[in-house]
Parts: sequence; C-alpha cells; structure tokens
Amino acid sequence: MSEHDLIVIGGGAAGLVTSAGAAGLGARVALVEQARLGGECLWNGCVPSKALIACGRAANDARTASRFGVHTGDVKIDFARVLEWVREAQRRIEPHDSPDRFRSLGVDVIAGTARFTGERTVQVDGRTLRAKRIVVATGSKPAVPPIDGLSEVPFLTNETIFSLEHQPRTLLILGAGPIGLELAQAFARLGTTVRVLESGAHLLPREDHELAELLGARLAAEGVEITLDAKVERVSHRDGTIRLDAKRGDGTGVTAEGDALLVATGRASNVASLDLALAGVATGPQGVVVDDRLRTTAAGVWAAGDVTGGLRFTHVADYQARLVLRNAFFPLSSAADYRVVPWVTFTDPELAHVGLTEREARDRHGDSVRIWRRPFDDMDRAIADDHPHGMVKLVTDRKGKLLGGHVLGYGAGSLIGEITLAMKQGVSAAVLGNTIHAYPTYPEAIKQSAEGYVKSRFTGPVRTVVRWMVRR
Ligand SMILES: Cc1cc2nc3c(=O)[nH]c(=O)nc-3n(C[C@H](O)[C@H](O)[C@H](O)COP(=O)(O)OP(=O)(O)OC[C@H]3O[C@@H](n4cnc5c(N)ncnc54)[C@H](O)[C@@H]3O)c2cc1C
Repeated sequence: MSEHDLIVIGGGAAGLVTSAGAAGLGARVALVEQARLGGECLWNGCVPSKALIACGRAANDARTASRFGVHTGDVKIDFARVLEWVREAQRRIEPHDSPDRFRSLGVDVIAGTARFTGERTVQVDGRTLRAKRIVVATGSKPAVPPIDGLSEVPFLTNETIFSLEHQPRTLLILGAGPIGLELAQAFARLGTTVRVLESGAHLLPREDHELAELLGARLAAEGVEITLDAKVERVSHRDGTIRLDAKRGDGTGVTAEGDALLVATGRASNVASLDLALAGVATGPQGVVVDDRLRTTAAGVWAAGDVTGGLRFTHVADYQARLVLRNAFFPLSSAADYRVVPWVTFTDPELAHVGLTEREARDRHGDSVRIWRRPFDDMDRAIADDHPHGMVKLVTDRKGKLLGGHVLGYGAGSLIGEITLAMKQGVSAAVLGNTIHAYPTYPEAIKQSAEGYVKSRFTGPVRTVVRWMVRR
C-alpha cells in the first residue's frame, strides 16, 4: 500500500495541471494514467486537429494565391506527409507532458488503469494506493449514437482519424459541431469530398446563430456540403462504400455515400471503469456529479475536466484543476465561475465566443439588450489581406455593460482575448470604444463595434448641447 497526499486519476490537461501544481506545493502526488500523458488534447484532439487544419490552410493559400499574382501551379497533396506533420507537431509538444518531466517535478507517475476499491483507496493493476485526497480527471471519449447498422461499419472517430493510412476520396461526417466542422474543412481543403449530416436545425448550436450561419455559408462556398435537419436512421456498408440513410423533419429522405465515415456527435465522460460507486462518488448523464466547488458526493474526492461534463475545453480543464488544488489543500474554498469563458471553433474563418449569445441575452435581459456589429468587409486591414469574411458582434445592455462577444473572422481566436479581458474586468463598451487601437489591425473592429454604443449615446439633450457648442 502506497500513501500519498493526493492521487490524480488521468493524465490529460486536468490531471497534469493538478499534479504539477500539487507537487509544486510540496505534496506527495501519485498520477495514474492508463495510456499516454497528455490525454485527448495532445493525442486525439486539439493538437492533431490544429496541425491538420494548418495543412489544409497551406493548401488553400497555395490554391488561392494567384489573386495576389503569386502562381504556384497545381497543388498536390502528399497525405502521408500531412499526417507526418501532425505527428511532428505532437512530438514537439510531447516533452511538456512527458513522464520524465513530471517525475522531475516530484510526481510519482504510475502507468495503469485506476479503479476505486473503497473510500480514498484506489487500485492500479494490483497495487493499492491510498490518499486523503483524490482527483478524478479521466476525461471523455466520443459518444457513438445508437444508429441501426453503425456498429457493423468501420467508422472513424477523433481517436482514429489522425492515423488514417489513406486519404478518403469522400468523407461522410455525422455531426456539425466544432469537431465535425473543423475536420470537414481541413479534409475538403486537402482534396477530399466532404458531406456533413446534422440532425439539428443549426450547425454549431451553442454559437450565436447569425455568425454560425455566416460560417456555414463560407464552408459551403468552399465546397463542404452540410445537410441540416437530417437524422441518420441507418448506416450500411458494401464493397468499400458506406451509405447513410437519413430522414428530414418533413419526412423526406436523404442519402449519402462515401468511402469513410467520421462520427462526431458529441462526447461521453470516462466513468465506466472506475467503480466510482465503491467510493460513494455519484455519476449523472453528464459524468461525475460535482458541486460548484468541484467536490464530488464523496468527501475527499474532487473531479475536474471533461469528466464533469459542461464546457469540455482544455482551458476549462486547466481552470478547474487550479480550483481543485485550491479547494483541496486550503481553507475557504472557492466556487467555479463560468460567466466569462471564451472558446473558439478553428475553422477558417474562425468563430470565437465569450459570454451570452444574442438569443441568450434577450432571454435573460429582454428589451435592454443592444447589439453592435462591425463587419470585416470594409475594414482596411481585412481588405488589404483579402480576409473580408465575418464580423465582430458585441452584446451589451443599454448602459454598455458587455454581456457577450462573438467574432467570426481571420484570427478571431486571438481577438476574443480582448473582449474576454474586458468582460472579466467589467470594462464597458464605452471604454473599449474610446481606447486607441493600432491601425491597420483586426482589433480595430472591436473598438469600432463598441463605438456603435458610444455614438448611440449622442442623442437627445447631449446632441442638442453639442450642436449648440459647435455652431456658436
Ligand atoms: C478533435 C478534438 C479537438 C479539440 N480541440 C480543442 C481545442 O482546440 N481547444 C480546446 O480547448 N479543447 C479542444 N478539445 C477538447 C479537449 O481535448 C478536452 O477538453 C481536454 O482534453 C480535456 O482534458 P481532460 O484532462 O479533462 O481529459 P483528457 O484529456 O481526456 O484526459 C483524461 C486522461 O485520463 C486517462 N484515463 C481515463 N480513465 C482512466 C483510468 N481509469 N485510469 C487511469 N487513467 C485513465 C485517459 O487515458 C486520458 O489520458 C478538442 C477535443 C477533440 C476531441
């Protein structure tokens, strides 16, 4: 039996941040990982998808460079090299998350699958570990919907698509969420024909609908075929061809055929192998049940990251891990606050989100909601670069308090940082609109959309007084 101050189960973003932080505080930490440290983000998620997106962007840039007078000739895709780049990106990042690094920080890294055998007791391949505090950070896996015939078809998920041996000629994708759409565009740019089928009425349903629809139009213009309101009822496979049979809301049928199928219909928490009930840890439809302090239903057991459901992002896993550290080791625990959490869909153009969408704001704040837009198509820098697609959309109340910010456009993932900081610090649209931004840059679009609010105050008595002053 080994005694530690803290056992962390799972070595993805949440588990790594918890382990490194606790070791830094001087705790004796055991980190148990059944596969590879780095988790979903490094091996099957953020890193390989962004590396593949970079390959697709390079192909698209080369193909469209002639508008700048730069002629590259026929663009040829070496798919083996594309996947080699994906692996190279992973190899370059892996040392940050390696067992050697964590051992050098003082963490006891244990390879194997952990399961609870009782309160604060965990077993890993026959070895028993005990600690006063345990953190469950076992992440999530692809949720595969119960569709007739799907289990008999060799479908791909994010766990297998980055190790394909051949580039699909036609890739069918189930699900128009962020994973489905990022990969749809990347594969299409690399020369695969892509068809996306989505059962819902909207793509990216958590996003501001106006911007999500503009993004859908951009993807369609690039040749990604997206069919909404198409509920796949049967999947079949014959002579290397996969066929989807779907029904639309009006009863009409849709079929699609391809040589590969990616299932990207959501995520399910990894709880099955943990025997959580033996430790008194309750689970629900979203995964491990936690309160706002990330405590589970068992004393001394916390959970962080994707396994808790909610916002499944690496930066949220990181935030929760830091909160768990604080709450597990120090008095006066703190509650999680998810009001200002940015996230990004890494399509081109990118779609970035923080706070409330227009619809959410109207549901909560009614008529006091104001919307301020600044399209990119007549911004000087966007014109010069030929990145005219998208806009900054700010959602405020009538006093200019920022309720949400949404950016569709080139570099949106970076632009959202300014709006995030403004919201976090209570900076109003008036202050954003009066802040000098460098010319010509994309963040000017944030200032200019906020100026919409500043100008809106130039009415009534203010306008009358100003008129009098300038004309006297
Ligand atoms: C295709 C894709 C793209 C993504 N892109 C982004 C992005 O661009 N930005 C972003 O913020 N997020 C992105 N995400 C989400 C991000 O990957 C996750 O939110 C993040 O990895 C969650 O970290 P985690 O530590 O909670 O879980 P994980 O990273 O899943 O780590 C959990 C670890 O626990 C281990 N484990 C499970 N059960 C046990 C057990 N019983 N014993 C021992 N070990 C166990 C697993 O092997 C795994 O290594 C993406 C996800 C996908 C699938």
